[in-house]
Amino acid sequence: MLHTVSRNVRASLQATCLNLYRQSRNYNAGLSETPSPVVSIVGSGPAGFGIAQFLLKNNTNVRINMIEKRPVPYGLVRYGVSPDHQDVKNCINGYEKVAENQRLSFYGGVEVGNTLSLDDLMLTCNGIVFCHGAQEVNRLNIPGEELSNVFNAKEFVGWFNGDEEYRHINPELDGDTAVIVGVGNVALDCARMLLKPTRVLKETDITQHALKCLEKSNIKNVILIGRRGPLQMACTRRELSEIMEIDDIHTTISNEYITDNVKDALNVKKLSLRKTQRLVKYLMKYSNNDVDATSCNFSIKLMTTPIEICGDKKISNVVVRNNIVSSGDAFNPKIIPGDVIEKIPCSILITAIGYGNKVLDGRIGNSNGCINAIEGRLDFPFPIYACGWCRTGPKCVLADTLNDCLVTGGRIIEDLESWSDAGVKQPLPEILRRKNIEYFTWKHWKEIDAHEISSGSKIGKIREKIITYEDMASIAFGNGK
Ligand code: FAD
Repeated sequence: MLHTVSRNVRASLQATCLNLYRQSRNYNAGLSETPSPVVSIVGSGPAGFGIAQFLLKNNTNVRINMIEKRPVPYGLVRYGVSPDHQDVKNCINGYEKVAENQRLSFYGGVEVGNTLSLDDLMLTCNGIVFCHGAQEVNRLNIPGEELSNVFNAKEFVGWFNGDEEYRHINPELDGDTAVIVGVGNVALDCARMLLKPTRVLKETDITQHALKCLEKSNIKNVILIGRRGPLQMACTRRELSEIMEIDDIHTTISNEYITDNVKDALNVKKLSLRKTQRLVKYLMKYSNNDVDATSCNFSIKLMTTPIEICGDKKISNVVVRNNIVSSGDAFNPKIIPGDVIEKIPCSILITAIGYGNKVLDGRIGNSNGCINAIEGRLDFPFPIYACGWCRTGPKCVLADTLNDCLVTGGRIIEDLESWSDAGVKQPLPEILRRKNIEYFTWKHWKEIDAHEISSGSKIGKIREKIITYEDMASIAFGNGK
């Protein structure tokens, strides 16, 4: 009996050793004797997961290190997409399957360009795909932007979505009018969160501090301001209809914007214009000039530019100027400042004029921060690619990011065999340990995830997000770091 056990143990030890040997030679043990190419994906948002899925599916040998600066995955799906867009967040189910693939390792809490340099990263892999999104914010750069209760959309969205950085911005919703600068989808998200009845938000993953604040809100009027005309609105029809169709919302958009030029433009037959034309036709159904004193009002004010935010410490109004079309056609009008100045009383202002890109390393990324990668590939001595918002800039929706993954992913698959730097590299965990960088694995995330779902279910919510790094570390490592 003893003999049998020791033989079994020996056999099992031999198998383990053989496996370890194969893993060190080839992470996809058993499928091939050539070393697996290791691809580092920087960022775990939709682009990161889209690329990972594409590579794992189209190459049975490749191994992936997914490196994320936050302890937890999913990028803007967790910290951007609104709590009332749970259908959009369902993409996470697919990402989970990708992350559970044996050939993918997740390293959360590691910031490339900060805690880990590009040079260090190159030592650990054969190719890099940057998928780090757009992390900055654009500013209006007008007087008064520093007043209290003036926020940019990243702050406001981060506040209700549990971003640690914006946990304490504490917007005051005691006045009745909010102004939002910008007419894209993010502006509409902010407007919706201010106008939607909280009863429809309280079962979502909105943070409790935001829910409590919105429950006490007095905001009745939300005014969106756009610099140009209806054909230049960056939002989609779906997002617009979501807000206009909320019960008890009265929409106001002046019919002065629907000029003869705009009407003519609606009849131009061109596929690329269809989306915009549909949006404007939808908008026209609501064009009127009257505000309803009895219900909540959602107004869109176009051809308008804010020039100063006023108030004594806290915002009390915003001064705007009209714009007029000087030349160009209805689709590409050139606008110049008009001479009508107006003061709009308001108690909160949110700027939603786009996220900005950040250069992670001086050797990659052009002046506006985007990585100039043609078909996803950067002109660089090491195989470097880029995908998603860090390449395209912060525009469009998840479906577009996914399309970008197909382009960049296809290029990587074509190139893989020719990577001259192929071969066994230094394991990433070794470098992280040597540099004393504590990192979160996928298992840690699953523990945090389970914790969030469990504390959410106690108060009837999908999840209650853990907000601080310390709380996440205490769940993951049990040391409350
Ligand atoms: P991100 O989602 O931003 O992912 C980038 C990831 O990289 C992040 O996890 C980030 O932490 C990480 N990272 C950044 N820097 C580093 C670094 N130095 N090292 C390591 N990791 C790093 N689309 C829809 O279809 N429907 C919606 O309802 C919708 N709502 C939105 C709401 C908001 C407020 C915003 C801003 C966007 C919304 N979008 C929506 C668009 C959608 O979120 C984007 O298309 C998509 O997230 C872009 O994916 P990405 O992976 O390029 O960037």
